[in-house]
Amino acid sequence: MVVAETNNEIENPLWHGEMHAIKRFFELPADQRPDVKDCLFLATHEPCSLCLSGITRSGFDNFYFLFSHEDSRDSFAIPYDIQILKAVYATPDPEIGTVSPDRPLYNATNQYWTSHNIARMIAGLDRDHRETLLARFDDVNALYADLSAEYQKDKGNKGIPLA
Ligand SMILES: [Zn+2]
Repeated sequence: MVVAETNNEIENPLWHGEMHAIKRFFELPADQRPDVKDCLFLATHEPCSLCLSGITRSGFDNFYFLFSHEDSRDSFAIPYDIQILKAVYATPDPEIGTVSPDRPLYNATNQYWTSHNIARMIAGLDRDHRETLLARFDDVNALYADLSAEYQKDKGNKGIPLA
């Protein structure tokens, strides 16, 4: 592991976990950090629009995440990622004048990177591997849910916009 970071929105609303990790990565001396193309970028939550751009601009060609945007909205009280992607980036199709509700929120595979949803990767495995990793995923999910509840409880009076 080269860098492990966490959300630091109390210091700066732009320091989402991914952005903070990218900041710390590039603070390492250039001759002491690997090429971004040799790195796996792991995020707890599917990156938001800010972090998608940060990953793109930093040159990473992949990212892996545990919780989808829908999980973030439904299980972790983070509705803004989907709301911002829809409000800012989902331009209406000029042919029909509306945005299809089934339209993906971003291109999961594009010229810059490939997005990997770990839960979907696990679902595609054979039964033995799937069951082993699902049990692990459930453990991580339970632990993370506790941490998230603590964060949600604590952030309330810190004045962080859209956190
Ligand atoms: Zn983000």
